[in-house]
Amino acid sequence: MQEFHEAIIVGGGPAGLTAGIYLRRASIDVLLLEKGIVGGAILQTEQIENYPGFPGGISGKDLMGRMAEQSREFGLTIREASPVSSLSKAGERFLVTTGDHGFEAAAVIVATGTTAIRLNIPGEEEFTGRGVSYCATCDGWFFADEDVAVIGGGDAAIEEGLTLANVVRKVSVVHRRDSLRAQQILQERAFKNSKMEFLWNKVPLRISGEDVVESVTLEDTKTGDITEKPVSAVFIYVGSRADTAFVGNLVDRDGAGYVVSGEDLSTRSEGLFVAGDMRKKSLRQVATAVGDGALAAVNLERYVLEKR
Ligand code: NAP
Repeated sequence: MQEFHEAIIVGGGPAGLTAGIYLRRASIDVLLLEKGIVGGAILQTEQIENYPGFPGGISGKDLMGRMAEQSREFGLTIREASPVSSLSKAGERFLVTTGDHGFEAAAVIVATGTTAIRLNIPGEEEFTGRGVSYCATCDGWFFADEDVAVIGGGDAAIEEGLTLANVVRKVSVVHRRDSLRAQQILQERAFKNSKMEFLWNKVPLRISGEDVVESVTLEDTKTGDITEKPVSAVFIYVGSRADTAFVGNLVDRDGAGYVVSGEDLSTRSEGLFVAGDMRKKSLRQVATAVGDGALAAVNLERYVLEKR
């Protein structure tokens, strides 16, 4: 017989850890499966200023360290395992499979977040780790006093561009339109920052170099002009997508692949709940992920108690 738990949480970011805290406080037998390091994508954020309770801000690492510690205080078992490869339902039970292990659960919360979208241009894969990066907090220091490009105009691009500007000589933000998508407060800071420049209506065509990145080729979306921008690094922030293939047809998805949930965060499969960035929602923040985790946990608890 496979290892059984009343509840399994897949994903150890803010949504999953919050769900774990709530479920343990309700004395539900719950296991959290995390494919990497507990904390999720927010670990890569240098400073979070809009999560209440931390005047002056807190780093993603510190915040997630605190959430993990709090969940362990309530006895949450966190297993760092290989990624969940499939989730299926047999009768009333869910079967959760990781690379080398099978688990059964009465109910499941999927909180696996999103992963960075690739540009899929020549040079991107080749130079990943040698100048192409998706994490300014991790890799910015390698380019101290050099010129770098940031691709994208959303919150992530501008926030990470500002982080880079603390370290590098110049940050060229390459955006495909002539206005940013990022929050106003980030835009104002970026426009005021003398180390940041904005290359409007430009898309990257190619990343080039010998052993490491030396330049990015840009196309003007209005004129079609092609220019070569010398940079030592290209940081790519063109959005993210939910990888939910492992859930198969247990859930409905919207056109962009995000999981559609009810107001109680239930899905079309009874006993299966979703929380955090991977579900269809209007705001993807730590604060909303935490709210999702709490809501999914309370509704899972009700479901499990009814079935006991
Ligand atoms: P996003 O909001 O989807 O922005 C992606 C950016 O990349 C957009 O500016 C988009 O241009 C551009 N883009 C997309 N595809 C492109 C392509 N093929 N070539 C060139 N440019 C392309 O993604 P995000 O910034 O990663 O943010 C994801 C979510 O996390 C959002 O909900 C965001 O609010 C949240 N987040 C919040 C914070 C914060 O609150 N501090 C920080 C990070 C992320 P267009 O504008 O023309 O579409």
